[in-house]
Amino acid sequence: MDALSRGRGRPPRGQAPADLLPADGPVWTTTHVAAFQGVDERTVRRAAARGDLHHLRLTSRVLRFSRPCLMEHLHGRSCADLVYDEEILDAEQAAALLGVGMTTLLRAAAAGVIPSRHLAGTWRFSRAALLRCLCPEPPAAG
Ligand SMILES: [Zn+2]
Repeated sequence: MDALSRGRGRPPRGQAPADLLPADGPVWTTTHVAAFQGVDERTVRRAAARGDLHHLRLTSRVLRFSRPCLMEHLHGRSCADLVYDEEILDAEQAAALLGVGMTTLLRAAAAGVIPSRHLAGTWRFSRAALLRCLCPEPPAAG
């Protein structure tokens, strides 16, 4: 409960960017998921590595999860039909959405881990595309 509500409100200075993500936002950290599932973070990381939990791996340590995806699966539904509001974000907004620092964001963008456009020295991100990144492509039917 504490871990889930920790992201709410105005964060104290010096807190890691990951802790700024609100529990009621679309993007969750390993900490959020662990609190929600009632397990420890290592169990969440193991489940993600096994492919049991949809996630985006931004670095070897930094995983992000889609809260709407977790809710769909909780209700026994597929997350494949989730639709996200479209909005064009700059790098700061994209970093805030994913709860990461600018360095992590731009490294992931440059590596193609997350979709982005880099035009005339300016980064642009699609909010919907970033959120879809949190779920891998659904397996082909058959
Ligand atoms: Zn999903």
